[in-house]
Amino acid sequence: MKTSIATVSISGTLEEKLRAVAAAGFDAVEIFENDLLTFPGTPRDVGRMVRDLGMQVSLFQPFRDLEGLPEPLRTRAFDRMARKFDVMSELGADLILLCSNCSTSAQPDRQAMVDDLSALGELAARHQMRVGYEALAWGRHVNDHRDAWSLVRDVDHPNIGLILDSFHSLSRQIPSASIGDIRGDKLFIVQIADAPKLDMDYLYWSRHFRNMPGQGDFPLAEFAAAVLRTGYQGYWSLEIFNDRFRAASTAGVALDGYRSLQLLDDSAGRRLRPPATPKMPSPVAVERVAFIEFAASDEEAVALGSMLGALGFQPTGHHKRKLVTRWTQGDINLIVNCDPDGFARNFDSVHGASVCAIGLAVRNVPEAMRRAEALAIPRFTQAVGPDEMQIPSVRAVGGSLLYFIEAGTEEQVWAQEFVPLPEVKAGATLGLASVDHIAQTMRYDEFLSWLLYYVALFDVTKTPQIEIADPLGLIQSQAIESGNKAMRITLNGSMGAQTLTSRFVQHYMGAGVQHIAFHTADIFAAARAAAGAKLPILPIPPNYYDDISARFGLDDALVEQLKSHQILYDRDGEAEYFQFYSRAFARRVFFEVVQRRGYQAYGAANATIRLAAQARFKTDALQPASGNPS
Ligand code: MG
Ligand code: MG
Repeated sequence: MKTSIATVSISGTLEEKLRAVAAAGFDAVEIFENDLLTFPGTPRDVGRMVRDLGMQVSLFQPFRDLEGLPEPLRTRAFDRMARKFDVMSELGADLILLCSNCSTSAQPDRQAMVDDLSALGELAARHQMRVGYEALAWGRHVNDHRDAWSLVRDVDHPNIGLILDSFHSLSRQIPSASIGDIRGDKLFIVQIADAPKLDMDYLYWSRHFRNMPGQGDFPLAEFAAAVLRTGYQGYWSLEIFNDRFRAASTAGVALDGYRSLQLLDDSAGRRLRPPATPKMPSPVAVERVAFIEFAASDEEAVALGSMLGALGFQPTGHHKRKLVTRWTQGDINLIVNCDPDGFARNFDSVHGASVCAIGLAVRNVPEAMRRAEALAIPRFTQAVGPDEMQIPSVRAVGGSLLYFIEAGTEEQVWAQEFVPLPEVKAGATLGLASVDHIAQTMRYDEFLSWLLYYVALFDVTKTPQIEIADPLGLIQSQAIESGNKAMRITLNGSMGAQTLTSRFVQHYMGAGVQHIAFHTADIFAAARAAAGAKLPILPIPPNYYDDISARFGLDDALVEQLKSHQILYDRDGEAEYFQFYSRAFARRVFFEVVQRRGYQAYGAANATIRLAAQARFKTDALQPASGNPS
């Protein structure tokens, strides 16, 4: 796949943009006219910069309002185009994007449009330029790629071709099968953008909410596969207008763009019949969460241990040579790493006691690592002792790690690295069986980046994005889930500086795990055991119970039981969800216990109640720029 990105897609000055785009690995760049106008050098300087960075200019854009205009507007538009051709020849670009006409002066006269585009082809030929015609979703008379293609086909001029833009086609839900009518050699460039499904004016939607393939809801793999079937050999060029990207890291967004095109290439290639030769292994299928590792100092480990004990976990193993303890319950493995050397210690010194790694059991570890590499996800390695296993890992959210373990070999790892501890009698188990979900909190501007990370690397689907009300602002939340539901991760980000989510990120010095939910088959037994073990539970206001009683028509005995154990409740049809929360450990991570009876979501309606309850605790609700963690 020949990759390209429009300069409008990322933040920074033109020089910064070009350097970031080249560093991310793109073959070419679309120069947006505004980036040229605000650049202090000549178009020739820009062209030289692009080529010195090893790239080409794939496209110069935009040119608006030409076809179907009455005189004198028509002549003026052609004069304007001739001027742009001169700029392009200095720039070293041979293709310009002509948007379908939006002017109120544009006439609905198809023959006039054909004639204008034919005359434009002659003008372009004299300048040795090519013009790509794009149907804007809000074009006045042409707003559908099928109509744009029929014009280009009828014009039949070698210097006039079609530009497809996935946003314009998919926002209008134009079937991608219609791309099959287009001749691949007349397709001059393909622009790619994803977007969330929104019911919104096309122009506003396009200018603010486009995002990278994988971050939105459009059926882009199907769109790209239809393009590939035409025999198209040109650039795949990201054209992303997104308010967040304009304010985010230039290099980060460029790298995400590159990653998203590799994902698109892979997912589209797999749709072809026969499939294209894959350039990377299939998306990683997660069998289960093998372990969650905490980094902690010695003192923090004592406090964390007492919380884990109250949650019904037992210390069941010590690492043979390191200060690392394994805690277990049901199928859950928690690792507390206090070793004075290595990754966990560094992580602890930056973030304080917290989750530094997640181990995932997958079907083929070498393939998982190769897919990560193809997606430019960095591998992590550290020195290991002679009798230790090097478990392959990659960098993940907030500098944490994801380890990959061959599914079915977890016990070997424990047996090789850990000495079993004698069973401790004390402490009732809570009957926690498995990790239900892991909640990660991040800056709002990096939310889409981590979403892309997960959907590109793993065989997962994403749930619709939702908004949760915190007492001090809104939190955006979205989950990614493996088909077997063994891996469910919720991503949370907030624009409000004072929401619990944002304060977590400030206090934690970055993105990280904010809560871990464990599944139990009996929430009431778990709650009784937790109370017996003096687990600090998050108190829920009595008003909540009056509301759910009325809302769901629950019987009084059940409501009393929920209330006495601070259990939150949700229902979806017949499916039911029960959940209670611990108070926060070290003002950072808290735990949740859930029971699902056929329920597949995360109790979003209750999240507002939970956030408000947490906000009442100064020790749980992180204060901005406050002192030591309590
Ligand atoms: Mg476009
Ligand atoms: Mg949760």
